[in-house]
Amino acid sequence: AFGDHVSIVVFGASGDLAKKKTFPALFGLYNQGLLPKNVNIIGYARSELSNEELRERIKSFLKFKDDAAKLKADGFLQLISYISGPYDKPDGYHKLEEAISKYDQENKVQQSERLFYLALPPSVFTTAGKNIKEHCYPEGARLRLIVEKPFGHDLESSRQLQKDLAPLFSEEELYRIDHYLGKEMVKNLFVLRFGNAMLSGVWNNRHISSVQISFKEAFGTEGRGGYFDDIGIVRDVMQNHLLQVLTLLTMDRPVSFDPEAVRDEKVKALKAFSIDNDNILIGQYGKSEDGTKPGYLDDDTVKKDSKCVTYAAMGININNERWDGVPFVLRAGKALDESKVEIRIQFKQVAKGIFKEIQRNELVIRIQPNEAVYMKINSKIPGISTETSLTELDLTYSSRYSKDFWIPEAYEALIRDCFLGNHANFVRDDELDVSWQLFTPLLQYIEGEDRPELEIYPYGSKSPKSLKKFLIKNGYVFDHEGAYQWPLTTPS
Ligand code: NAP
Ligand code: NAP
Repeated sequence: AFGDHVSIVVFGASGDLAKKKTFPALFGLYNQGLLPKNVNIIGYARSELSNEELRERIKSFLKFKDDAAKLKADGFLQLISYISGPYDKPDGYHKLEEAISKYDQENKVQQSERLFYLALPPSVFTTAGKNIKEHCYPEGARLRLIVEKPFGHDLESSRQLQKDLAPLFSEEELYRIDHYLGKEMVKNLFVLRFGNAMLSGVWNNRHISSVQISFKEAFGTEGRGGYFDDIGIVRDVMQNHLLQVLTLLTMDRPVSFDPEAVRDEKVKALKAFSIDNDNILIGQYGKSEDGTKPGYLDDDTVKKDSKCVTYAAMGININNERWDGVPFVLRAGKALDESKVEIRIQFKQVAKGIFKEIQRNELVIRIQPNEAVYMKINSKIPGISTETSLTELDLTYSSRYSKDFWIPEAYEALIRDCFLGNHANFVRDDELDVSWQLFTPLLQYIEGEDRPELEIYPYGSKSPKSLKKFLIKNGYVFDHEGAYQWPLTTPS
């Protein structure tokens, strides 16, 4: 782990990610007493800003739970200074090096420890990396570098980026962030799966009949589609976030919590995944049914005839002994009826015989919002009735755990891991490569000449119309209409 004096440099400090996520996460950790004892936080970007201007900008994004935290915010902001400079010339880096060395000298630091956080567009990753290596990495210092997605646009560009960074920094020094790996419920998958005999025993194709991981966003690009238009939903959340969740959900038990042991198992699982290009559904949102919400093409920042995919559902097969034959569906979309990310695991039908009508068990793990894990189970209707009804065993965090419980934001959890030198929740180079190998043929197909038809769905709808058929084709069995009641109703 890093020691008591660490310099943290946020590149792209003037940008969106820095103000919304990076600085607030540093503050969250500071507020919990989880930053190293002494830190020297430096923002770096080209924009001409004074220390005070940067602090003001950051301040408006800090969240306070109580007055005590509000007071602490001023203390935190005072730890931050700003240096302006270009990314591709040495001038600014010299100033940066000077500032860090001065801090180290003043604090009699034996071994300089530095965390560089690249909150920059990927086009500048390599340039910034080269200059950091050359000008801000003196002999004997310890350095960690956090990089942000996207790690390439396809297999080729991802390999190029790795090739450019590899001579500069070792895998040990690189921390590739996929912020889903910092989410509380995603981290809990390990404990749920491997810490409960009741679940680990049935975690295979003998008991599970289908699995869905779904990501729903209740908003569209809202006038900021320029960035999204070249990327699409598959790159934005599926090749990275949902695939990570699928990997953690299906990998074998690692021999230990050692980061490399965990990542070895993840890579092994990933290598068994396959996507069938014939088993996909893609869509783009149009105007809402009442006409009040714009369609994707109404966004002035996207190409007028854009075929950008804002909704996708795909079947994934896992070709190993544990999962052979189980259909997995990843689905993700923008401009839907709600914002939600969840995993839904459906179990096989029990023998009917003694039951006229009996529903399947389902385990639902809701990653966001409002973390919850619930298992839909059959139970006798209370009273003189002998009939069954579908009910649930329910763990809802907000009612089970005290309101004062601090659940770190994903970025807080990950930055802390980086201080501790723990790579388990960061993406390893080989893992990244396999994920692009898996997704690149699919992307080429949906973006190529013979691309399948885009299904237009209204802004605010549950999904494209054909999703239901798609899910049924992929093994999901819907409850009988009305079989499950929520919220709880008193039995009649
Ligand atoms: P951003 O605001 O567009 O860029 C960050 C800063 O980089 C800008 O303030 C600008 O600072 C500098 N910059 C922008 N374009 C540049 C260019 N073409 N050449 C050189 N410098 C440029 O980006 P961001 O939204 O913060 O995202 C940063 C990274 O995080 C990206 O890789 C992004 O994909 C990733 N990411 C962002 C989010 C998010 O919520 N925003 C979420 C996940 C991942 P100066 O002009 O002052 O130098
Ligand atoms: P559900 O709403 O009955 O949906 C079951 C599955 O079917 C979901 O994957 C849903 O997709 C899909 N689906 C439903 N109608 C569809 C359609 N027309 N086309 C395509 N797919 C469709 O879910 P549930 O698990 O039985 O829960 C029912 C309600 O109880 C939910 O509101 C749930 O939040 C609530 N509940 C909450 C808790 C808790 O907070 N602890 C516990 C138990 C139940 P979508 O997800 O895309 O709708």
